[in-house]
Amino acid sequence: MSEIAFFRRVAVTVIAWASGNSLFAGPGLAEIREADLKRDVYALADPHFNGRSAGTIDELKAAAWLAERYRAIGLVPAGDDGTYFQYFTLWRNQLSERATVSLDGAPLEMWRDVAVAQLAHATIDAPVVYLGPAAAVDLAAAEVAGRVVALEANPAEFNPAMSLPTWRYARSQYTKYGLPLLRRGAAAIIFVNDEVGEKCWDDSVENFKRGTYALEGDPNAAVTAVAPVLWVRAAAKARLQGGKAVLKATLGVDRYPYPSVNVVGKVAGTDAKLAAEHVLYSGHTDAHGIRNPIKGDRIYHGADDNCSADAALLACARAFVRHPGKRSVLFVIHGAEERGLFGSRYYAANPTVPAASIVAVLNGEMIGRNDPKTATLLGATAPHKNSDALVTMALAANAEGPGFTVETAWDSPSHPEGWYFRSDHLPYARLNIPAVMFTTLLHPDYHTPQDNAQNIDYAKLTRMTEWMYRTGWKVADAAERPAVNPDFKLER
Ligand SMILES: [Zn+2]
Repeated sequence: MSEIAFFRRVAVTVIAWASGNSLFAGPGLAEIREADLKRDVYALADPHFNGRSAGTIDELKAAAWLAERYRAIGLVPAGDDGTYFQYFTLWRNQLSERATVSLDGAPLEMWRDVAVAQLAHATIDAPVVYLGPAAAVDLAAAEVAGRVVALEANPAEFNPAMSLPTWRYARSQYTKYGLPLLRRGAAAIIFVNDEVGEKCWDDSVENFKRGTYALEGDPNAAVTAVAPVLWVRAAAKARLQGGKAVLKATLGVDRYPYPSVNVVGKVAGTDAKLAAEHVLYSGHTDAHGIRNPIKGDRIYHGADDNCSADAALLACARAFVRHPGKRSVLFVIHGAEERGLFGSRYYAANPTVPAASIVAVLNGEMIGRNDPKTATLLGATAPHKNSDALVTMALAANAEGPGFTVETAWDSPSHPEGWYFRSDHLPYARLNIPAVMFTTLLHPDYHTPQDNAQNIDYAKLTRMTEWMYRTGWKVADAAERPAVNPDFKLER
């Protein structure tokens, strides 16, 4: 070691010591600043990005903004063809704008009087068999083959403990009553709204309108169903109840490619050998775009979900650029997470570095809200824990730094949210890459326009970022990469 390097090292050690942090915990802690995090969240959650809906120009603009931040910070491009970008194609299926539905010759206005919950290429002109309340239908015996059947939604399926009970209400009816009838050959299913369904209508419709998305090459990319699932308003009940109603419907499906993009940058490691390995930090660009208004706002800004984590990644990037670790560090901000983890599924299948070189995935997902004292690490408890070593490092990083009370209940397979399966670490965990998700959990503004930059707790976000940075530093600088638990097996 040269004298200059020696004295620089002493100075860094003294500074780190003075701030209560050993070098081992991460020499770049001073690069994690609340002011930067706040500025970046405000910029990315700004209304001019229109809620960054996946596959739209708004998501692409936000991705370009992130790439420009990467460049300014000094990350090396690590996407395709020497750029920060990895583009991928989604296929989207949406109900044709020419679709029509009528009952007894009276047209129903699409999305106001009737909604199409399951797309199908179907032309129907048939009497409607009225089965009555869903809860009373004998799903194994009702004669439904080749018939159009109507049944009343069962409000007992409403789970107020869930976030978004709105469109998930319709899905729970579909799973419990719709699927068994479809399997037995029903030609179409009509759910008749109850009072809960009426309250959920606007949100359900926004989700149905989007249609379906799939990655190119996915066998499910095309709509193959022939039996549609419709919802009608409670007002249609009287007409259907008589048992003589006739449904006429022409339900075409439009199919078209949709572009999305991952934003990928890198800091090279300093160790001649370990630099070939990568610690992967993960976030996502997209939010929910422009939708039904709530409290006077139609833009679903997604400030906590997920500008908070993206800003944290930018801060960690500053820290690693200033003080690289032995291993290389990748920053992947995924596209199209909200539509089904498509960016992470694509990157995990088409990584821009060898998949075997990714030693850990540190995913941030909504990290700026709720009680300042608590936070959650998903993937920290069986059966979702896939690396004791990584979890030990993450918990030690918390103890040395922010000192959150770490909640573990959300890893339980019986937790109603099943949240482990709903963010971008999942496709990597499925490849047996050690993976955890840092989060401060759901809140009443989740997936509403009120998830905005004003409602973020920036002091807490700073401490969450510190936790993610300290964890990444430990992984980047460890002699051994974190081992995968040999018995790891997800419950679904
Ligand atoms: Zn999210």
